[in-house]
Amino acid sequence: MAQAQTQTVDLFVIGGGINGCGIARDASGRGLTVTLAEMNDLAWATSSSSTKLFHGGLRYLEYFEFRLVREALIERETLLRAMPHISWPMRFVLPYHKDMRFENDTPTSRLLSLFMPWMKGRRPAWLIRLGLFMYDHLGGRKILPGTTSVDLTSGPEGAPLQDRFETAYEYSDCWVEDSRLVMLNARDAEARGAMIMTRTKVISAERENDLWRVETQDVETGANTVHHARMLVNAGGPWVGDIIQTKVRINSREGVRLVRGSHIVTKRLFDHDKCYFFQGTDGRIIFAIPYENDFTLIGTTDAEQTDPEKKPVCTPEERAYLVNFANAYFKAEITDADIVWTYSGVRPLYDDGASSATAATRDYTLKVDANGGAPLLNIFGGKITTYRRLAESALEKIGEHLSVSGPWTAGVSLPGGDFPVDGFENLVRDLQRDFDFLTAFHARRLARAYGTDARKILGRAVTLQDLGRDFGATLTESEVVWLMEKEYARTAEDVVWRRNKLGLRLEETQIAALNDWMAQRRQSAQVAE
Ligand SMILES: Cc1cc2nc3c(=O)[nH]c(=O)nc-3n(C[C@H](O)[C@H](O)[C@H](O)COP(=O)(O)OP(=O)(O)OC[C@H]3O[C@@H](n4cnc5c(N)ncnc54)[C@H](O)[C@@H]3O)c2cc1C
Repeated sequence: MAQAQTQTVDLFVIGGGINGCGIARDASGRGLTVTLAEMNDLAWATSSSSTKLFHGGLRYLEYFEFRLVREALIERETLLRAMPHISWPMRFVLPYHKDMRFENDTPTSRLLSLFMPWMKGRRPAWLIRLGLFMYDHLGGRKILPGTTSVDLTSGPEGAPLQDRFETAYEYSDCWVEDSRLVMLNARDAEARGAMIMTRTKVISAERENDLWRVETQDVETGANTVHHARMLVNAGGPWVGDIIQTKVRINSREGVRLVRGSHIVTKRLFDHDKCYFFQGTDGRIIFAIPYENDFTLIGTTDAEQTDPEKKPVCTPEERAYLVNFANAYFKAEITDADIVWTYSGVRPLYDDGASSATAATRDYTLKVDANGGAPLLNIFGGKITTYRRLAESALEKIGEHLSVSGPWTAGVSLPGGDFPVDGFENLVRDLQRDFDFLTAFHARRLARAYGTDARKILGRAVTLQDLGRDFGATLTESEVVWLMEKEYARTAEDVVWRRNKLGLRLEETQIAALNDWMAQRRQSAQVAE
């Protein structure tokens, strides 16, 4: 028997990925009452499995996706200012070689084969420079430096690369901690009045007069609850189609194309803080990115995935593909044995009928269904980079049905991000001065994850012991309590893979001990209620 929740809300959002949480935050800030349901942990699916770049997407220029590239380029600096703790500028080194091949079914390729057929899929250097010129200027830049040329025969950028690469171009994009971005949007939405429910699955939604009747199930207890809302937002990512067909059960012509992308992580492969953008002979590109201080992140692949329920994993073929790709550039050969971790995610792309997974559009599409009563907004596609703009577009559509105020999120910091965009080193220095027991690694890690909120976790501690139990790799009880109380963490996996990446440093036994401790704390909290 389902229990009914009495209050009717304006918006019910299905999905606690970046798009659901971004919309919940924006809508709450405009005075709407919002409930969000996520069937697992926040950012559990695609939004913790990205390459973690705020980027315009240099390769999308090949597809003439100028609207998307321009919006994303402008967005990089807006986002950087709002979250200078979890996001930072990065330089990308693109080694140039005249025999590099590019995909042959892009609009650029078709034009080139018409006017320069002898190039046979290769790109002249002037065209790469033109692309980078557009990348520098399409979206305007105030913080990020523009493109430069790099001599690879001297200097640290060339040192790990094979000698055949003599020149490169270097351009700017940004890094972002994707899953933390989701947590901070959810926290901010909650602070503005939203109700965020994790481990809560939407099992059905139907129109009842002018309202939605949404039934959810607590996946831990099996208890069902009924909610009423004036509008429903389907931000189910890879499940967007499943939600339309099996939960809301309406006819829709819109489709989603599921494209898996996998990454491998190795021990650190080079000694500088820049990334590499490698062009493959098959026309695809991969990145090699400094990761979590001691590691290198390499990805990604593009493979069709038919079923959202099938957990995406990096297959042996994808591992081999990424290893071989990197080995075509790096001097020191890497092997499968160098891989310390892999992860995979599924891109929920709008099905625009493109021939290949690589060519499918990365832009977003918002569709409202208002046939037969209360409106439903379905979200297809999107990028981490464009989540804030996507939320603004969603609120425009919502505004056609509910009364909302104007856009507000540009220029408003996320929790912990209320310090100057170039103030990160000062933040670390001040933390180390005031909490002198912190190692440099610990202080930087806390500043990156929590920004100015790091002080709230450290409280009045004067020794490391004051932070309570030590779970290893600088993770302490105070931090875990914060994550459980403020950031919806329930299990060790939530903590060590989505609130931070300490899973790369902790032993299995340490993670199990953390899990037991968290389970016990949850139980005592329940008893206390
Ligand atoms: C390999 C890869 C690399 C990428 N790299 C980048 C990048 O570098 N930069 C960039 O800008 N973008 C990147 N992206 C794109 C970006 O990650 C996605 O566009 C974005 O994360 C999608 O977010 P979402 O909220 O739509 O989906 P998700 O994060 O998947 O969230 C959807 C949520 O809905 C929940 N849900 C589904 N059904 C139900 C239900 N019935 N009840 C309750 N909850 C439900 C799911 O559990 C899930 O958590 C990348 C994507 C991939 C796969």
